[in-house]
Amino acid sequence: MNKVDLLVKNGKVYTPAGFQDLDVAVSGEKIAFLAMPGTIENGKTTIDASGKYVLPGLIDVHTHVRDPGFTHKEDYETASRGAAASGVTMICGQPNLDPVPNTVENYRKQIEIAESKSLVDFSPPASPLLYEEGWVPKLAAEGAPWFKIFQRVAAYPYSTAAGTANTVHILEAFKEIAKTGKYCSVHPFDHFFHEDGKEKVLKLGKEYAPLLYREEEFGAAYELYYLAKRAGVKWYALHCNNPDYIDLVRWAKSEHKIDVIASWEVHWMNIFLRSKVYDVKRGDWWEPPYRALAPGLIETLLAAINDGTIDMLGTDHAPHLREELDVEDPLKAHGGGGMPVLEWWGHLWLNEVNKGSITLEKLVEVISVNAAKIFGFYPRKGAILPGSDADLIICDLEREWTITSEKVYSKTQFNPHHGVKIKGKVTHTILRGAVIMEEGDVTGKPGYGKFVPVY
Ligand SMILES: [Zn+2]
Repeated sequence: MNKVDLLVKNGKVYTPAGFQDLDVAVSGEKIAFLAMPGTIENGKTTIDASGKYVLPGLIDVHTHVRDPGFTHKEDYETASRGAAASGVTMICGQPNLDPVPNTVENYRKQIEIAESKSLVDFSPPASPLLYEEGWVPKLAAEGAPWFKIFQRVAAYPYSTAAGTANTVHILEAFKEIAKTGKYCSVHPFDHFFHEDGKEKVLKLGKEYAPLLYREEEFGAAYELYYLAKRAGVKWYALHCNNPDYIDLVRWAKSEHKIDVIASWEVHWMNIFLRSKVYDVKRGDWWEPPYRALAPGLIETLLAAINDGTIDMLGTDHAPHLREELDVEDPLKAHGGGGMPVLEWWGHLWLNEVNKGSITLEKLVEVISVNAAKIFGFYPRKGAILPGSDADLIICDLEREWTITSEKVYSKTQFNPHHGVKIKGKVTHTILRGAVIMEEGDVTGKPGYGKFVPVY
């Protein structure tokens, strides 16, 4: 028999039937077959994964790539380098860009940029806000996996106005998207809570900004649920990060009146909570305004993952420069202080497995498999099966190490996890048969990443 191109041998491999001792044979960009350990000869390249786990490549459903439009914060090359560093083989860039991907021309512009710069595969959601001009079916036909909207508030520094919508337009956009059969996600906001919050922050100081209104988020979420039901659209409940919102989603799933899925964007500020970030550029520690945790929130969130209420994890990798965050005017301070997290995300979650927060099986579901199934990437992505893309990560659950700032890929040059000791490391990232990261060295090339459309 001819040698296979790549053999990953002796690992514990994730399969739909659980972890099994298997060798994974790769031919070109695809998984050729799985075999009992030691039953086939070495490939042209062989990686010995003895004592390690082999998982499908991670999928980040919530990456703020900032490209095009805000490339001083991040771009497809820097974001995808960080992705490769932590085992993420596909990113879904969020649409608060300039131009907003709300027409075929604008959507293609982003795809072309990503094709020239990205080290990992990508599939960005589109914006449906020119629904009245007939763009929704055309964007669906381009292969956009889902649609995303920001609910409009008076001033929201994360977004360009073109990506936001009032309630009436959200309902109309939902009706158009319903015809495509795709999901729509909406960042839940409320104009009046937002306005009132602005006043309070001016009095109390900007560090209070993110603490103000839990009511805002879940009030908006209830409204979105109702609108989705009216329109018959498949609702993607994103930022499902507080107990009331989780209860709503749990109830909506049990009600079976609409198709609803949910994601938790695990920010550096919550499960990986730290109050300070290391600024690599300036070589100092800096305390940005941050979001305090309600007592018991992490336990509530983990329970919602474990009972299937929350289907997916996203990074909410949200890079902003220090100059953009460290200003007194709360309207210009980019909310609670978005941070880079992508380049540590996979490793940090392995540490959570070691801490007992989540089983490895469940982690693989919510960080890869479920997103692939929900949006239609499966079994090309999110699976280690013959014929699937050979997107594999090799994980050493026993490795104890300290996160340093020798290599920080984000343009922000912040490291919220500098000096943190963790157990568990993604040692290899393999994308379509090519090793793009090994032991922290990102060797992938810009332009290797491909668009993964969903039709
Ligand atoms: Zn976000």
